[in-house]
Amino acid sequence: MKKLSFCLLLFFSSLNAGPKILCVVAHPDDETMFAATVYSITHHLNGIVDVVMITNGEGGYKYSTLAEPYYNLKLTNEEVGRANLPRIRKQEALNGGKIMGVRHYYFFNEKDHRYTQDENEVFQGVWDIQSIERKLENLLKCQQYDAVFTMLPTPQTHGHHKAATLIALNVINQLPPSERPVILAASVSDSDNPPLQFLELEGHPLTKMVRPTPIASFDKMQSFGFKDRLNYQIIVNWVIAEHKSQGTMQLFMNKGDKENFYFFAINNTDRIEWVDKIFQQLAKDYTDHVSKLDFQARRRPEFLSDMVGAEAAQLE
Ligand SMILES: [Zn+2]
Repeated sequence: MKKLSFCLLLFFSSLNAGPKILCVVAHPDDETMFAATVYSITHHLNGIVDVVMITNGEGGYKYSTLAEPYYNLKLTNEEVGRANLPRIRKQEALNGGKIMGVRHYYFFNEKDHRYTQDENEVFQGVWDIQSIERKLENLLKCQQYDAVFTMLPTPQTHGHHKAATLIALNVINQLPPSERPVILAASVSDSDNPPLQFLELEGHPLTKMVRPTPIASFDKMQSFGFKDRLNYQIIVNWVIAEHKSQGTMQLFMNKGDKENFYFFAINNTDRIEWVDKIFQQLAKDYTDHVSKLDFQARRRPEFLSDMVGAEAAQLE
């Protein structure tokens, strides 16, 4: 009888469960690309969002000028920056995660060696690709995510961003079809910068999309609250503000009205309907839920920090 009650409990809790998402990104701060969507999934749909960060972010020292007095460290000095930024940027990511409602961060601690647009560099000995793929595969198999969010691998973006997306595509493509999460790529747009047309990154057929335009969008500017003066751009700005060591990231505040998601052709096209449904739910007015006060009780910030080491170790 006890066993039956437990099964019924699991059944009913799974009925209420929201989407389960894994974000796979290269650097601490890349997740700001979909911060509003993540916030809405965790706060309004009762969803779960975890984040994999492939690098330790040590290469982001050049624009740390304004963070030097804040952290009392000469971070723009390469030696000081590379020694201290991994620790600082993890904490900045965790602070942003508290705002977005992220459950776990998985820090893979690969070297953030330098800025390059060449996605192939990190595959030539800079990153331990086998280790990354093994950890990611384990995570996907254990956690059975519904979807994976990545950055749109445009030719102009950082080679690390493209490589992170390529690794996620490669790992998912090798899973049995029934175990594959749907994989999407994100970019932001506004009226001056319409959604990018992207069909495929040359030389990487796994990056092919079903169509060159986004399949779904989250409107950061949808307004709510007293006199309708609030919107989700505020949340994105909060998250950006946590990344104080990244000077130029701060310039992205108030940029982009929409977070757009593109659908890779390796996905089963049956999943388009699921994506549509999720984004229709996200577009609803959640004014009442935004101010729901039980949220922080469910997601304690120390939970995030505690899980980082233990969870990451299990993946080795
Ligand atoms: Zn980045």
